[in-house]
Amino acid sequence: MEKSALLELDIGALSALLRRRELTSEEVTRACLERIEATDAIVNSFVSLCPDRALAAAREADGRLAAGNGVTPLTGVPIALKDVIVTRGVLTTAGSKILGNFIPPYDATVTERLEESGAVILGKLNCDEFAMGSSTENSAFGPSRNPWDVERVAGGSSGGSATAVAARQCFGSLGTDTGGSIRLPASFCGVAGMKPTYGRVSRYGIVAYASSLDQVGPLGKTVRDCALLLEAVAGFDARDSTSIADPVPPYAERLEEGVEGLRIGVPKEYFPPGIEPEVEGAVRNAIAELGDLGAEILDVSLPHTEYAIACYYLIATAEASSNLARYDGIRYGVRTGGAADMAEMYCQTRSQGFGREVKRRIMLGTYALSAGYYDAYYLKAQKARTLIRADFAKAFEKCEVIACAVSPTTAFRIGEKTSDPVKMYLSDVFTTSANLAGLPALSVPCGFDARGLPIGLQLIGRPLAEETLLRAARAYERGRHEAVAHRPAALEKALEEG
Ligand code: GLN
Repeated sequence: MEKSALLELDIGALSALLRRRELTSEEVTRACLERIEATDAIVNSFVSLCPDRALAAAREADGRLAAGNGVTPLTGVPIALKDVIVTRGVLTTAGSKILGNFIPPYDATVTERLEESGAVILGKLNCDEFAMGSSTENSAFGPSRNPWDVERVAGGSSGGSATAVAARQCFGSLGTDTGGSIRLPASFCGVAGMKPTYGRVSRYGIVAYASSLDQVGPLGKTVRDCALLLEAVAGFDARDSTSIADPVPPYAERLEEGVEGLRIGVPKEYFPPGIEPEVEGAVRNAIAELGDLGAEILDVSLPHTEYAIACYYLIATAEASSNLARYDGIRYGVRTGGAADMAEMYCQTRSQGFGREVKRRIMLGTYALSAGYYDAYYLKAQKARTLIRADFAKAFEKCEVIACAVSPTTAFRIGEKTSDPVKMYLSDVFTTSANLAGLPALSVPCGFDARGLPIGLQLIGRPLAEETLLRAARAYERGRHEAVAHRPAALEKALEEG
């Protein structure tokens, strides 16, 4: 098979070829490494590669496949991980200079589970520093570039996780989503991505940003690929006290069952005046198509939506200010030398190690938690969070799924929003609520704007209803094959032009 056709396959098709021994994992892994070599100077998906480890894993997978022993749908399949997911012996930077030398002595639970399933880990993917951002421009390693228009952002914070899949550098990836960081880059880059229910996937070994909101999830070319990846990593983990004990359903099994009779609520608050008309049009069309496929479409209201951004940015920064206290230059990470005493060493290490946005957030969070302001800001935000949660609980009395846009715009130009943090934060108006409420939510491609930039449909579900969301997204995807099945021409053009 031709290499470019090989890289187009979804995980199911690749796995079938591997099982039939028409192809080896080593061949596929080499094809991915070559593709990365050819394209990464343009898209900047990877912070680091681990080719030796990948090839060793590929050969081990080939052994398993040949013996027909312990084979899973991911055995031999090359994937990659956002660089906030720790990997034993492999540099894990979280997109920050302060972790520029951090080689973890252990694996995250998700890393361990992927390796047990036989997946091949190619390397670590670029992201906003400590996952703080909506465009990957806050990475210490430069922005990832959108394969649909390389002058535009990939979205963030899991930008590299989306560009790597869209640019066909790997067959799937993991990202993390605290306020939209899987869904936003998935929608900007025309791939599928899911944030599971809070607690569905272990956070053990994930560099913490905002611990009450962080969740790991998959990105893939298709909804099915996401289902397969989620199945491999989800489930109880005694090392994460917020991990949910419920059994993990076989997500890929009932994917084709359609949406007949499913009630899909459309929240009026998610179509405000600021949404780009082309985005609104594509999303409304997608919802109508779900109606044609047999779903019942109805109006719902989430009246506290307008508080989501303020509430999210108070809680997330407050938690971040506490989580990031551990980067003190003592235990791990980079230490700035030459200080006269310990206080000066802390100060220099943190001043030089953290980027601007991270410092801004530590200051905002510290302020919101300080005596005298705690009640006015942090506590208020917690109350707003309760109201936002209650809105969803009420809406879910009437429907099983909520449908809306992922973001009010398509991918913006690199540099367009970096000088105005509030403008950047507003990219997350439609995504933060699901995190505040702990709900599963996904993004599935639903068309393009006039510039040829992808648009994402967001589906939000009840707690632990990942299966329903995946099934609905798959029903839509099946009807709209062209939206997901073609590779970004802009990247190919950039490659030809050298
Ligand atoms: N853009 C949001 C933020 O900057 C969300 C990031 C995320 O989900 N990690 O906080």
